[in-house]
Amino acid sequence: MAVQQNKVSKSRRNMRRAHDALTGGNPNECTNCGELKRPHHVCPSCGHYADREVIAQADEIDLEDDAA
Ligand SMILES: [Zn+2]
Repeated sequence: MAVQQNKVSKSRRNMRRAHDALTGGNPNECTNCGELKRPHHVCPSCGHYADREVIAQADEIDLEDDAA
């Protein structure tokens, strides 16, 4: 087991942890549906990316076609 050579003081420890806070995301509006989405990612609500549909949504898939 590694053993530290010097004690890290509460001050040093807390100074290190001062930069550990999480920051919020920076969402963009989807150009198709207006929903907030992550930049450079496919819109999770409508499946569009760069003004074209890349993922078919479940309510748009006709399940009858698969059986035939
Ligand atoms: Zn969308």
